[in-house]
Amino acid sequence: MKVTAIDLGLPRVVQEPSKTDTAARPDTPGLVDSFGRVATDLRVSLTDKCNLRCTYCMPADGLDWMPDEQLLSDAELLRLMRIAVEMLGITDIRLTGGEPLLRPRLEDLVAEITSLHPRPRVAMTTNGIGFAKRAKRFAEAGLDRINVSLDTVDRETFQRVTRRDRLSHVLAALAAAREVGLDPVKINAVLIRGVNEHEVTSLLRFTLEHGYHLRFIEQMPLDAQHSWDRANMITADEILSMLRTEFTLTPSTEARGGAPAERWIVDGGVGDVGVIASVTRPFCAACDRTRLTADGAIRSCLFSQAETDLRALLRGGADDDEIADAWRATMWAKLAGHEINDAGFAQPLRPMSSIGG
Ligand code: SF4
Repeated sequence: MKVTAIDLGLPRVVQEPSKTDTAARPDTPGLVDSFGRVATDLRVSLTDKCNLRCTYCMPADGLDWMPDEQLLSDAELLRLMRIAVEMLGITDIRLTGGEPLLRPRLEDLVAEITSLHPRPRVAMTTNGIGFAKRAKRFAEAGLDRINVSLDTVDRETFQRVTRRDRLSHVLAALAAAREVGLDPVKINAVLIRGVNEHEVTSLLRFTLEHGYHLRFIEQMPLDAQHSWDRANMITADEILSMLRTEFTLTPSTEARGGAPAERWIVDGGVGDVGVIASVTRPFCAACDRTRLTADGAIRSCLFSQAETDLRALLRGGADDDEIADAWRATMWAKLAGHEINDAGFAQPLRPMSSIGG
C-alpha cells in the first residue's frame, strides 16, 4: 500500500524513500534507523487544542484547530499503540498535545493503554490546568509519571508568558501529582530573553523545596508564528552560569542513554536539575523517539519535513503488518539529526502544538 504524507492544507510532501535504501534495512521488528538508533519511546499528541496561549508557541488568538473527524478516534489511537507495543518494541508512551487534558475520556484511555501487553510505562506532558481534581483517577488508571510546564513561579510573569491567569492551577496540579504518588514529578521550563530568564534560580529553589525535578528547555524553532529568533533563546551555557551564582552543580554520573536532559546534582545531593539543550548541545545521536500526531501522522523527528499517514492506512483497511511496516520504513529513513544549526535549516510546517513534546 502506497504511503503518503498527511495533508496539512499545504503543498503535499510525499514520503519518498530517502537516500537510505530500505532494502538495506535489517530484518528486525523494532524501529531501527540507518544510524543504529532504536526508537522505544513513543510520543503521542492527543489533540492540537490548548487552553493556554504561550507566546513562544502560538498567537494570542490560538490556531485553527483540526476538525474532530481528522483526529484519530480512541479506537484508532489504541490500535496504533497496541501495534507499537506488541510489534515494534515500544516500552514507553508519553501523552502530549496541544494540551492532553483536553482530550475527552483521557482517564479511560490511560487505563486502556496501561492494559496493553507488555505494559508500557506511561507519562504525560501537560500544562496542569484542571489536573488537580483528576489526579487520583489518573493514578488509578496507571499513569506513572508527569511533566508539568511551568516557566515561572511569579503570577504576573505567568500571565505575560501564557496570556492566562492560571498559575495557582499549575501549582495545585504539581502538589496533587506528588500526593497521588506519581514519580517523578518534573517541571519543564522554557526561558525567553527579557521575560523570565531572571527566574532561573527561583525556579530551582521552588522545585528543590517541593521535591520536584526541574528541566530547563532551550526554546526550539517550532512555534506556529515562525518567529523563533536564536538571539532570544537562553542557551544551556547561560542557564548553567546563572544557576552557579547560587548553587553548586556536579555532573550526574548516571548513564544518560536517550534521555534528552543533561543532569546535574545540586549542592551535593539535595536534588537535581536538567537542561534539554536541543539547539546548542544536540542529543540526536542517541535519540530513541518516534512520534504520532493527533491526526495519525508518524514523524521520525520533531523537525521532520515529511510525515507518514497512518490514518489513511487505518481507514483504508490496512492490516497490522502493513501499518507496522509503514512505521518501520519511516523510522529507517530518519535523518541523523534536526539540522537546526545547518545553513539550509527550514522550520517544519507543522507547529509544536500539533506535534507534542
Ligand atoms: S531533534 Fe529529532 S533526532 Fe534530535 S533528539 Fe529531537 S526528535 Fe530526536
